[in-house]
Amino acid sequence: MGRKVLITGGSRGIGAECVRVFRECGDDVAFLYRSDDAAALAVSGCGAYALKCDISDASAAADAVKTAIERLGGLDVLINCAGISQIGLFTDATDADIARMINTDLIGAMTVAREAAREMIRNHSGRIVNIGSMWGKTGASCEVAYSAAKAGLRGFTMALAKELGPSGITVNCVEPGFIDTEMNKNIDAQTRAELINETPMCRIGTPADVAAAVRFLCSDGAGFITGQILGVDGGFAV
Ligand code: NDP
Repeated sequence: MGRKVLITGGSRGIGAECVRVFRECGDDVAFLYRSDDAAALAVSGCGAYALKCDISDASAAADAVKTAIERLGGLDVLINCAGISQIGLFTDATDADIARMINTDLIGAMTVAREAAREMIRNHSGRIVNIGSMWGKTGASCEVAYSAAKAGLRGFTMALAKELGPSGITVNCVEPGFIDTEMNKNIDAQTRAELINETPMCRIGTPADVAAAVRFLCSDGAGFITGQILGVDGGFAV
């Protein structure tokens, strides 16, 4: 399709799969990552452009988006996928823990979207997909700050969709369920089995499951879909 696509968190997991899917469709892709140079190098082998940037640093994030736009020669699609998780009692969380979570999973996404939207408004066209989480819908014990950040992404998505619709830009949110990525590498076998047991589709999700939904929301056929929250969770949060 030859569109210009920016994906945050493109070096691993769901973001890396999105990079591959958009590249396979013939799009030009740039992606942001924070630290894992080896993973970013491996993903960039498909012809995507990797940019190292911590999106929780607002000024670095804004600069990285501008660099990506220059490199791509414009911007048609933004996938806000970068995120971290924190597991533990909320009462044990430090100020720094909470700030890091909100600054990455919510404010980082907002900063990147703002810079992307400025470019898209000029073109009167664009697609933004935010990657939330089913925990943003239901809330998760021991993932309180994460749930709060992801719930914030829901409101952000709906409000931004209203603001950017007149500029020809759609804004949607995909909420994955339990997906097989490094983010879940520390989940023990029993919890894993319980999560699968609670999932109506009786399996763990894959990055490909999520990337397919993202791709759909960026397709021509989804041009009248905006402000929506799409669960890709095997029915877990229904
Ligand atoms: P991974 O941990 O596998 O990958 C996270 C990606 O985000 C990496 O590319 C990482 O880069 C990047 N990243 C993290 N923090 C920053 C930062 N501050 N600045 C820039 N890049 C950053 O995660 P997943 O693929 O599992 O998750 C992707 C998204 O999907 C996240 O938003 C997550 O919350 C959401 N999600 C995941 C679920 C799951 O079960 N896996 C379920 C629901 C939602 P680097 O490695 O270089 O740090």
